[in-house]
Amino acid sequence: MIPAAFDYHAPRSVGDAIKLLGDLGPDAKLLAGGHSLLPMMKLRFAQPSHLVDLGRIGELRGISQSGNEILIGAMTTEDDLLRSPLLADKLPLLVEGAGWIADPQVRYKGTIGGDISHGDPGNDHPALMLALDASFVLQGPKGERVVKAEGFFVGFYSTLLEPDEILTRIRIPIPPPGSGWSYQKLKRKTGDFATAATAVLLQMSGGKVAKVAIGLTNAGPTALKASASEASLVGKALDAASVDEAARLAMSICEPSTDQRGDVAYKTAMCGEMTRRALQAAAARAN
Ligand SMILES: Cc1cc2nc3c(=O)[nH]c(=O)nc-3n(C[C@H](O)[C@H](O)[C@H](O)COP(=O)(O)OP(=O)(O)OC[C@H]3O[C@@H](n4cnc5c(N)ncnc54)[C@H](O)[C@@H]3O)c2cc1C
Repeated sequence: MIPAAFDYHAPRSVGDAIKLLGDLGPDAKLLAGGHSLLPMMKLRFAQPSHLVDLGRIGELRGISQSGNEILIGAMTTEDDLLRSPLLADKLPLLVEGAGWIADPQVRYKGTIGGDISHGDPGNDHPALMLALDASFVLQGPKGERVVKAEGFFVGFYSTLLEPDEILTRIRIPIPPPGSGWSYQKLKRKTGDFATAATAVLLQMSGGKVAKVAIGLTNAGPTALKASASEASLVGKALDAASVDEAARLAMSICEPSTDQRGDVAYKTAMCGEMTRRALQAAAARAN
């Protein structure tokens, strides 16, 4: 319950925050919504000497459209995502996914950028970002770089982010009209992380799958893109046989860890089941 002592910094710009990270060194941590970092500090799993709070940097929060992309500031909260008419219209998959995250109080504070940067395979945004083909804008002392969600999640709590970089924006291409989507999440209770969850974004053409993206949550040390499963579906009708094969291929890449949510066999089977349900629900919404 009691975190170790730390110094607190509240920069007003991204540039100032990056400078602070450089000056303070690896013992400094960025603070976003605080709903993963503070629980870890209270258990003394993390003991940073400095917290650099991003909460006063207004430019980091907001949702907008630029051409065929949606831009979301890293400090945009889950609640902001749920209340956005633009996202409801253009990226309903993201709104559906955010609705499955935590509970109302956590969603008032927790940010999309923090959820992605944390690198926890139990978090929901990583798999959603894989299904949505998102890119992340990372800003550091040498400027900006843009990386794809696919490849960003390196391992358990490990991403491509360097210690002196800040995730500033998430860029998501707007799916074509008529796309189907679904996020199916199995959990023990409201506010729990997924036992297994699957994000699907799908386009149909003439009754056959034209394009599909599948992201898996808590199925391994990182969120996983089910590429073989996706490839197996293209050009096929979504019938029981093709959905079963896609679920089998998703299960074949699962490497979940055993914990109180279940053992490897159960979690793997549930990943297959969430994949089946997400594909069927997405197909029902596609036209
Ligand atoms: C009761 C409870 C239930 C929850 N259930 C879920 C759930 O079902 N699904 C889910 O996905 N999450 C869940 N969470 C996690 C929650 O959504 C967190 O808020 C989220 O994981 C981290 O976002 P944050 O803004 O709170 O980040 P913080 O806790 O402030 O930061 C997390 C980490 O990311 C780093 N970081 C933050 N922002 C940036 C940035 N812009 N650039 C670089 N690094 C950054 C921080 O330094 C830190 O290491 C739950 C949390 C609680 C307390």
